[in-house]
Amino acid sequence: MDKIALITGGSRGIGAATALLAAQRGYRVCINYYKNTDAAFRVVDTIQQNGGKAIALQADISKENEVVGLFEQLDKDLGRLTALVNNAGILETQSRVEGITSDRLLRIFNHNVVGSFICAREAIKRMSIKHGGAGGAIVNVSSVAARTGSPNEYVDYAASKGAIDSFTVGLAKELAGEGIRVNAVRPGFIYTDIHASGGEPHRVDRLKAIIPLKRGGASEEIANAILWLLSDEASFTTGAFIDITGGI
Ligand code: NAP
Repeated sequence: MDKIALITGGSRGIGAATALLAAQRGYRVCINYYKNTDAAFRVVDTIQQNGGKAIALQADISKENEVVGLFEQLDKDLGRLTALVNNAGILETQSRVEGITSDRLLRIFNHNVVGSFICAREAIKRMSIKHGGAGGAIVNVSSVAARTGSPNEYVDYAASKGAIDSFTVGLAKELAGEGIRVNAVRPGFIYTDIHASGGEPHRVDRLKAIIPLKRGGASEEIANAILWLLSDEASFTTGAFIDITGGI
């Protein structure tokens, strides 16, 4: 069976590392991105230079019509999806809860939760044996924040990842008889650009002293777990979480 993967937010950070590793493991890869066209096409170029097949498709994951269009274009360009990595996610400037507006809450939940649900919905239509598909696997990118709650930084973001954890458990059970496994990774503090959007680009270095392994993580270390969960080696694993936190 052809292996075809969609990585949302695949232009940078954990998503880019996942796209590169997926291509190495024989997937044809769709790299979804939002604004950073250059970064997305750099990932595509790297994959193609190494003999792989990849495309980049722009779509705002928080907008249902754009997600639907993304999947339709993917169908045409690559074929029927077998793997979805719900990776795209955002956080906003560090704030206590009393400083969080409803507009901000809607942005966080639209991107991190609604976007993942809609992508999963579109993936199910293509993968589920109930819909004539050949099965597949979904990996949701949650966060250690779902367990810690991220006090004084972004409880809204943490709560959105808590929702992703419940989503993972429920969807795994819902799809278990339809050839689709659903799992999640919960990264800890990983060196990516996301911390700059919270207003603290060097956040991982500030926090690394509290990590039992005494260092921040690399995107590739998350990608390894995601690719394992997608693979047949994880054939009896569904509704599971891999915490990749250096021991937090
Ligand atoms: P990142 O470096 O900030 O990259 C974010 C990616 O998401 C980019 O590819 C970006 O595309 C894309 N994106 C942003 N908004 C989007 C939208 N509306 N539609 C589609 N794509 C969008 O983030 P990261 O650190 O790799 O995080 C990836 C995932 O891991 C997120 O779900 C995050 O919550 C989770 N996570 C990260 C950490 C960490 O420490 N880094 C820890 C736990 C969990 P453009 O390049 O086009 O902007």
